[in-house]
Amino acid sequence: NDRRRSSFFWGAPVKLEDHEPKSSTSRSAGIATNGIEGCIGNTPLIEIQSLSEATGRIILAKAEFLNGAGNSPKDRVALNMILEAEKQGLLTPHQGDTIYEGTVGSTGISLATLARAKGYKAHICMPDDQAFEKSDLLIHLGATVERVPVAPITSPDHFVNLARRRAIEHTRFSEDGSKGFFANQFETESNWQAHVVSTGPEIYQQTDGNLDAFVAGAGTGGTISGVARYLKLEAKMKNVKVILADPQGSGLYNKIKHGVMYSPTEKEGTRRRQQVDSMVEGIGINRITNNFEVGRDLLDDAVKVTDEQACRMARWLVENDGIFVGSSSSVNCAAAVMAAMKLPPGSRVVTLLCDSGTRHLSKFWKNIKEMGLEEEGEPTDLFAELGIS
Ligand code: PMP
Repeated sequence: NDRRRSSFFWGAPVKLEDHEPKSSTSRSAGIATNGIEGCIGNTPLIEIQSLSEATGRIILAKAEFLNGAGNSPKDRVALNMILEAEKQGLLTPHQGDTIYEGTVGSTGISLATLARAKGYKAHICMPDDQAFEKSDLLIHLGATVERVPVAPITSPDHFVNLARRRAIEHTRFSEDGSKGFFANQFETESNWQAHVVSTGPEIYQQTDGNLDAFVAGAGTGGTISGVARYLKLEAKMKNVKVILADPQGSGLYNKIKHGVMYSPTEKEGTRRRQQVDSMVEGIGINRITNNFEVGRDLLDDAVKVTDEQACRMARWLVENDGIFVGSSSSVNCAAAVMAAMKLPPGSRVVTLLCDSGTRHLSKFWKNIKEMGLEEEGEPTDLFAELGIS
C-alpha cells in the first residue's frame, strides 16, 4: 500500500527515512497516496504554545482539520462506516447505491467526498440553522442536500429521521436494484470504533503515552467515547482524565455533573433548537446517543464553555498562534485550559482542532467581528474566567 498518511486500520504507514526531503519542515512530502482515502488519519499533534505559556501546562491539539478528504475527524468515521457497509453487502460501488445521512455538516462532507471517490451518491439531510459554507460545499461535491427546519428528535421530519426514511424509501422503491444506505452516525458502532482504531492510538503514539488529560466535545459522542475507550481500556492508562467540553445550552454537562440532562425548570423537548442554544456548531446535544453512552462511564468530568468564551478563544488562537479554527475547536481549547488549570503545573493535556474557520465565516466568525473582538489584545478576562489567575 503506497500510502503517505495511511492510518491504523487502512494499512501501515510506509517509512522512507533514507529519502526524506531536506527541508526545514518536519513533515515529509512522502510518496503517492492511494487516492483521497490515503489522506485520512495520522494528523499532526500541535503544541499550542500561547496556551502552554499562559497555563504553565502543556496544551496539545490534534489537527483534525488536516484530514485530507472532508477536512475533519469525520473522515475517519465516514471511511469506517462505508468500509463496514461494504463488508456487510449494504453498499456496492458503481451500482447507483446512495449513502443517506443526517448531519450538521462535517460527516456529510466526509461522506459526500468519499462517496465520489468510491462510486456512490450522497444524500444529506441537515438542519437549516447551520452555516451555509457547509451546505454549499456539499452541493459542489454533488450531494443531494435537504436543509430542513429545526424539529425535535421525536418528529419524523427531524433531519436524522428524514435521512433514515429516505434511505428506506430508496431501497423499497428502487427500480434499478440500487440500495439506499443510512449511515446513522449517532447510533452506529462504526463511528466510535473508528476512533478506537485510529485517533486513540495516534494520540498515544504521538505523546509516547505521556498525557494527563484528553478533552473533547461531543456531537454524536463518537470521538470522546472512542478515544476514552482506547486510552483507558486498551492502553490501560488508569490515570488519564477524560473531560467533556460542552457548549452552553447542551444537556451533556448536566448529565455528567448531576445525572440529569435538564435543570428542574426545563421540560425535555421544549427547546426550539435541535442541538443546543448556542452559536457553536458540531458539538453539544440534548439527548444521549449510543455513541455517547458507550463511553459515558469513562468520563471523569465535564466543563461548560459559553459562546462568548468560545469567540474570545477563537480570536486568541488566530492572533497568537496563527490557528484559524471553527467553533467546536474553540470550545475544546477553552475547555482544555479549564481542565489544565485543575491539574498540576507541567501536566500534558490533549484536545482536538476539528475544523477550519473557513467553514464558519458566515456565522461564528461574523459574530466574532460583530462582537468587536477583532482588535482585542490581551484577553485577561477570558483567562481569568478559565481559571488562570
Ligand atoms: N466538531 C465538529 C465541527 C463536528 O462537526 C463534530 C461532529 N458533529 C464534532 C466536533 C464532534 O464529534 P463527535 O460526533 O465525534 O462527538
